[in-house]
Amino acid sequence: MSRRAEDQIGSIADTLLQPTSAAGVYARTALFERVVEGLSGLITRLREPDAEIFRFPPVMSRQQLERSGYLKSFPHLLGSVSCLHGEESDIRALVEGRDPDQDWVAGLSATDLVLTPAACYPLYPLVATSGSAVPVKGLLFDVASYCFRRERSFEVDRLQAFQMREWVCMGTPEQALDFQTRWKFRADGLATKLALPHTVAPASDPFFGRAGKLMAMSQLQQSLKFELLIPVHSEELPTACMSFNYHQDHFGATWGLVTDAGAVAHTACVAFGLDRLALALFATHGLDLRNWPKMVRETLGFDREGYVTTSERPRYTNGTTPRGNTAVTE
Ligand code: AMP
Ligand code: ZN
Repeated sequence: MSRRAEDQIGSIADTLLQPTSAAGVYARTALFERVVEGLSGLITRLREPDAEIFRFPPVMSRQQLERSGYLKSFPHLLGSVSCLHGEESDIRALVEGRDPDQDWVAGLSATDLVLTPAACYPLYPLVATSGSAVPVKGLLFDVASYCFRRERSFEVDRLQAFQMREWVCMGTPEQALDFQTRWKFRADGLATKLALPHTVAPASDPFFGRAGKLMAMSQLQQSLKFELLIPVHSEELPTACMSFNYHQDHFGATWGLVTDAGAVAHTACVAFGLDRLALALFATHGLDLRNWPKMVRETLGFDREGYVTTSERPRYTNGTTPRGNTAVTE
């Protein structure tokens, strides 16, 4: 990466993000949030009809994440929630440092929670609990979560905590594959409307260890993952801002999701890295939203001053399978 490019993205990020004492963890400024808001509205406008909406907290069940296979594939990225347990006197001794042999951190023990690593993980067990089969036309979801990954290095676009929005499709192999393919193509058009230089390329996940290298190769060979790459730092090392993933029957088999015809459901997801997309827009078009190309401002629903004009009324739909009375259809 050239020093100049690094300095440029560094100085842009200095205006948009405020560092904290933890690497890869930033406070976002109002200017940055305006663009995240614009992107969120755009994603909502592009969403296919009948998608059921869920917004997840940044923590999820440890047992469910384990069962999903995340621990085997990505143990190096996982964050787990630990707390102080025990009697009041034990906890007090730890936090007040009365026992010189024991740092309070050593007194932490794991809870039943982990930090959500991707927005779609909590969805599969949730849908499985409904017990109903995936209908013939398939199921679509719109989910979002703050996500955590214990990355090895931290740059302004490689965060420990970041915002992910996803669309998920469940159905037959053809439906899941078709979903991955059509959004891979549509994302190309979307990046063009945002005037972002980009490519869509085959990709693999950062699986753990030596066995993980084989898994990554197999993922590439089977074209299970693609990414939208944008040169945020440099042309040579573009940043993955979106991904298009076909999981085959992995989540369907794990959670017992079946189609109407009695087959194991296949799944696919399209993930938007909101922080990376926002950074890519600033890196490409500069810090003054008023100077962004008209087409880009219009696509994001910004007025001339760069404020979001198209306010979305929250629209909750049940998709095709009503689940109790938790959702409202307008
Ligand atoms: P993945 O599940 O790895 O395909 O990630 C989905 C999207 O989340 C990526 O395309 C990125 O835009 C975003 N993302 C993943 N890891 C990070 C990170 N460490 N910091 C910021 N964004 C990330
Ligand atoms: Zn996903």
